Amino acid sequence: MAKKKISRRNFLATGPAVAAGSAISARGLTQESEAVHGTPPSGISLRVQSLISVLTKKGLLDPKAVDALIEYYETKIGPHTGAQVVARAWVDPAFKTRLLENASSTITELGLTGIGNSRADLVAVANSAQVQNMVVCTLCSCYPWALLGLPPSWYKDFAFRSRAVIEPRAVLEEFGMTLEEDVEVHVWDSTADLRYLVIPERPEGTEGMTEEELAALVTRDSMVGVEKLQPYRPEGEV
Ligand code: FE
Repeated sequence: MAKKKISRRNFLATGPAVAAGSAISARGLTQESEAVHGTPPSGISLRVQSLISVLTKKGLLDPKAVDALIEYYETKIGPHTGAQVVARAWVDPAFKTRLLENASSTITELGLTGIGNSRADLVAVANSAQVQNMVVCTLCSCYPWALLGLPPSWYKDFAFRSRAVIEPRAVLEEFGMTLEEDVEVHVWDSTADLRYLVIPERPEGTEGMTEEELAALVTRDSMVGVEKLQPYRPEGEV
């Protein structure tokens, strides 16, 4: 008997039946359809659920591993991790020197095992009064996820990816950063093998702060290099 050809349309149409008949337990992927009970899941969600179903049936995927991965990205990673690295660099000049020489190995001193599942190397670049570093991925959206969390939508935007290397000062201006003429702008193009972390300048008014307090001041955008941290003013002080 001739095998029935399954078109892309048929595959998507049969997706719900395949998914419903399987033992999918990938929490994050089923949450969406549970949350909107009665509403068909999105096309992407259907494809993912169907893929999990097929790979699980073939013994190529353990749904528990998918759950663990989703939990990792939902709760463990984020800019707070990169902020710890920056705060340590601010209070410990020797750490900063090591970080600038070899960031991949130096962040392990903080218990960080690397930049997630990626095997990419990490490079740290430091801002100063004379240098402003900015990170982009002109090809797609390579980003140090484990240190900064998921990339913001503008980082993946074609306009940002192209303009960041053509007219970086204009782009930074649009982010609210006006640079003096004598400040050099260094734009770093991320790749699958290389990810960058910007060490912003330590803000004025933070002398005497603990490392933890300092980490709370570090923003995601400052570690991508599109934001300058403002001088610290205690609450209530004008
Ligand atoms: Fe990329």
